[in-house]
Amino acid sequence: MLIIFDLDDTLIDTTGSITPIKLEQALVKMVEAGLQVGDFQEALTILKRLDMATESAAQTLLEFLEITLSDKETSKKYFDIGHEELYGQLPSDFPVYPLDQALDVLFELSSEHQLALVSMGKPEQQLLKLKNAGIDSTIFSKMIISEDRDKKPHYKTILDELGFTPSQTLVCGDRVKRDLSPAKELGCITVHMQWGRGLSCLISALPHYIARDVDYAIKKLSQIKDILITL
Ligand SMILES: [Mg+2]
Repeated sequence: MLIIFDLDDTLIDTTGSITPIKLEQALVKMVEAGLQVGDFQEALTILKRLDMATESAAQTLLEFLEITLSDKETSKKYFDIGHEELYGQLPSDFPVYPLDQALDVLFELSSEHQLALVSMGKPEQQLLKLKNAGIDSTIFSKMIISEDRDKKPHYKTILDELGFTPSQTLVCGDRVKRDLSPAKELGCITVHMQWGRGLSCLISALPHYIARDVDYAIKKLSQIKDILITL
């Protein structure tokens, strides 16, 4: 089989290890630029709480500014400042943690299957996350890191290049719409990693047309091995 992984919140704990620090840095920058938030710690708590239910950190920022400011114009100004900090360059020693057993699971899977990675983001940043999480990128037969929002052409490229049919391909990611729906459109088998932002879109709460795109749901990466046995 070919197994294509997403990176953030699928192999590494982005929501737990990177986002909270990034949100705090974004808040610092916005306050430095003049945003009035009252008590900083309280504002940070609100920001982190909002982040537990949103689809992205950018969305968190947007909602935070919506409740903090009434003026759309200034809101946009602070959003841009915060957004730049959120998605800006990570310091090279930034701590990134792999998800539970991710390294072992990847290593085990690689002995019988071909592995690939399709990740959305800036290449140098995503490669740094992989490195700091201790994931050896040579374990992947093919990696595509792109800022392009549509993963479908990348999945297609990997299938073609490595010579797998969609039914021989399993795609694992935490976001149904971004990671799994395009894979399902190609006919691949999909595995929903219920971690981080994946938790805020649990199957039971998903509209039918999205639930249709999820073949399996897991809470731990090691469960992929159980799925593979049944295929
Ligand atoms: Mg992800």
